[in-house]
Amino acid sequence: MRKRALQLFVNCLLVSAILWSMPSRSAIPFSSGRAAQNVLLAQNAQVQAALAWFKPHLNWINDEQARLTEIPAPPFAETKRAEAVKVLLSAFGLDVHLDQAGNVIGELRGANEREIILVTAHLDTVFPADTEIKVRRDKDKMYAPGISDNGTGLASLVAIARAVHEARLKPQRTILFVADVGEEGEGNLRGMRALVDSYREKLKAVIVLDGSGTDHVTTKALASRRLEAIVTGPGGHSWSDFGIPNPISALVRGSVRFLNTRVPANPRTTFNLGQIEGGTSVNSIPFEAHLKVDVRSESEDELLRLENALRECMAAGVRDEMESSRDRSKGKLEWKVEILGSRPGGELASNSPLLGSLRAADEFTGNTSRPERASTDANIPLSIGIDAIAIGAGGNGGGAHSLQEWYEPSGREVGLQRALLTVLGVSGVAVEKGK
Ligand SMILES: [Zn+2]
Repeated sequence: MRKRALQLFVNCLLVSAILWSMPSRSAIPFSSGRAAQNVLLAQNAQVQAALAWFKPHLNWINDEQARLTEIPAPPFAETKRAEAVKVLLSAFGLDVHLDQAGNVIGELRGANEREIILVTAHLDTVFPADTEIKVRRDKDKMYAPGISDNGTGLASLVAIARAVHEARLKPQRTILFVADVGEEGEGNLRGMRALVDSYREKLKAVIVLDGSGTDHVTTKALASRRLEAIVTGPGGHSWSDFGIPNPISALVRGSVRFLNTRVPANPRTTFNLGQIEGGTSVNSIPFEAHLKVDVRSESEDELLRLENALRECMAAGVRDEMESSRDRSKGKLEWKVEILGSRPGGELASNSPLLGSLRAADEFTGNTSRPERASTDANIPLSIGIDAIAIGAGGNGGGAHSLQEWYEPSGREVGLQRALLTVLGVSGVAVEKGK
């Protein structure tokens, strides 16, 4: 073990000036600002054992990643995968239960049970239920939809829980290891919303393990809205009813108008027409058309502006279609724009203990990472002022949300150690009397 580096890590935590309530006499927080405790922790055999656990167990971690990835977890159907994670966490001495939302929660009781650190990895994938998921291994890579996002996060969550268990490490604050539901798309972060609702008062920090890599840390939550425009009409036969208003035509007219909406480069703002549906056959005038739009911005004002623009454009598209229809006797078009999901923005303070802990962990592992803005589970705690970050859990990955997704585990122990140290930096470690 690199004792000097660990000492450095602890020193860095000192610099981040973490305010702790005084622990009970038998418990020593990892990040308290006291030199004596510092020395104790630098020599803490359990911390060293937990850090050293990963490397000789990489095969087990990789195999669990493959196994969990092959259990389908499409949006709103994460139960089977949740059960598998529950079995694993239970085997590592945690008190495990599923909450109402479907989150798997494994509790590692701290010396101080009144304060909680949340470590999470999302269970769900973007892939529909009928997607074939079989992990293919080729040389040093694994290929499968969801193998990195979030196979890496889940395997790492489980590995960290096991490393802590094997090292018989007791944290100062309670740590909850959570595999949560509903992170992707229309899941709308419902798992994290439920967690924050349940633990709000006690929650001191949230560390989200999402995907691979160690090159970034998400400290800013990207605000987004997912909107659906729906146009309905009477519908009819393409020949005999020609001239009645057509919902697809109206939707297309509105969409073209929306595409001409200008968005600023700064604050960075984007929109995407992601899904379009409607109609029943080529020779029918449809009675319904749907368009799903994703809008994102560094500014909430811009989001609102884009949402309003979509409404105005749809209203205008419907008006254009009605005006150009020659037969309005069978009925008119109706339209609405619904909000499918809304992710609030937020930002981690640059002097937060959590960021200090991450920086110290980076230093310890010899890693460098850049702060980033993204849309993740961390949006929810950040939006209400609870410290949160999202990080990759190590190794390399690519092709997220595609069928060609891949993961390369080499060097993943760096990501695991970095994540573990970040967690311990904010949870603290309880040290037995006399040690
Ligand atoms: Zn993800």
